[in-house]
Amino acid sequence: MKLTVIGAGPAYTDRVGAVGASYLVTSGETTLLLDLGHGAFANLAGTLEPSTLSAIAISHLHPDHFIDLVPLRHYLRYEFHPPRRVTLLAPAALTERLDALLAQPGFSAESLDVVPLADGLDRVIGTLRLEARKVTHTDDSYAFRVSPINASAYETLAVHRRVGDGGVTGSGSTPGLVYSGDCGRAADLRPLIQPGDLLLSEVSFGLGPVPPGAFHLDADDVGALAAEAGASRILLTHLLSGRDRAATEAATTRAAGGISARLVDPGDRFDL
Ligand SMILES: [Zn+2]
Repeated sequence: MKLTVIGAGPAYTDRVGAVGASYLVTSGETTLLLDLGHGAFANLAGTLEPSTLSAIAISHLHPDHFIDLVPLRHYLRYEFHPPRRVTLLAPAALTERLDALLAQPGFSAESLDVVPLADGLDRVIGTLRLEARKVTHTDDSYAFRVSPINASAYETLAVHRRVGDGGVTGSGSTPGLVYSGDCGRAADLRPLIQPGDLLLSEVSFGLGPVPPGAFHLDADDVGALAAEAGASRILLTHLLSGRDRAATEAATTRAAGGISARLVDPGDRFDL
């Protein structure tokens, strides 16, 4: 499993090139995109052919996490004849939100197949398993765990799918990636993290503290969570404009009891 950072910015920033959140997870032929925030489409298109994505999972409906679905939809609709389609797992209001933005009923449906997210969603996408948990941020925000499925487990899961057993169990302890989305309570992420997982977490307020009602995390929150859950590594993202990067990395590593933490940027690639 590989992680490629497409975009890692917050809602606004003075950092040149810091486009909205977007992370590509690949495993063999399977390509799963987590979020597609403002300005991230061009980076995505420069990384792979967007119409070949196995699926896209959207954490929540803030523009820095989903608004480049608009250029993606235009691309799928107008670049190909016949138009192509991509499957999205997203908060239920996504279709209505995009259609309203364009004042065009049916805008999304022309190229996007939307599956509503729910707390506890557990789904096989090619050779990857996607789990979703609701987190404190907007009233319909999710964090994700993505893990590879080995061949024998995949056979079992495929059979379960065919007989209509909706639950997915038994990918075992294969290390995965947990992505926080935006999250105002670190404890919400705890059930998703298995020992050895890589934690890709927002650290919006850097050295903190997080102002009341902001519904984001800081270095101490992320570090303590990673240590408690036994994460193997911490990747940090979504740092607000003007915050100290090196100090945030150091504070997170310190709070995590020495687990390495670093901020990611577009173009970064990691082997998991
Ligand atoms: Zn947000």
